[in-house]
Amino acid sequence: MAFELPALPYANDALEPHIDTRTMEIHHGKHHAGYTSKLNGAVEGTEMEGKSIEDLLANHTDNGAVRNNGGGYYNHNLFWEVMSPNGGGEPSGDLAEAINSAFGSFDEFKTAFSNAAATRFGSGWAWLCVHPGGKVEVCSTPNQDNPLMPDVGCGGTPILGLDVWEHAYYLNYQNRRPDYINAFFNVINWSKVAEYYSAGK
Ligand code: MN
Repeated sequence: MAFELPALPYANDALEPHIDTRTMEIHHGKHHAGYTSKLNGAVEGTEMEGKSIEDLLANHTDNGAVRNNGGGYYNHNLFWEVMSPNGGGEPSGDLAEAINSAFGSFDEFKTAFSNAAATRFGSGWAWLCVHPGGKVEVCSTPNQDNPLMPDVGCGGTPILGLDVWEHAYYLNYQNRRPDYINAFFNVINWSKVAEYYSAGK
């Protein structure tokens, strides 16, 4: 079964004004679609065909095409799901407790996550990850790497990810990556992140 581009969980214009419609159209319809088809091309006819995306990312990233396109496929799947037109605010429950325990407060978490996103030189991602037992950490990775890959300096299961490739924000924000990062906090779907936290801890 080949990997398929998932439908967005909302319309292309649903995250306006924080994420603009044209960026969503190109980002999902061209970039994410491209990673998906190139991932299928990279595994087709090999012993990797039919393996789960998690297996590919954990065990087969010595293959550059699988690393870049498998990462791109997985990372964007997560990215669309952790945003919502009804997002923003702060987490509650176990996730809020884990964030407070790790960072001191939600505001301190926001600063750490924003710094990880702002200081990633070039293209990459900022992550909030959960480790077995429930501890959370913030980290960042270059390119389409992610915490499921070995030896990326970042571990656990990603439960929140922010794409800081220029293709994610340049049409609307140009060089103003910090404004894009701030805007992302207005659309974070904390109830979805909490589901990932519960599943991953
Ligand atoms: Mn992207």
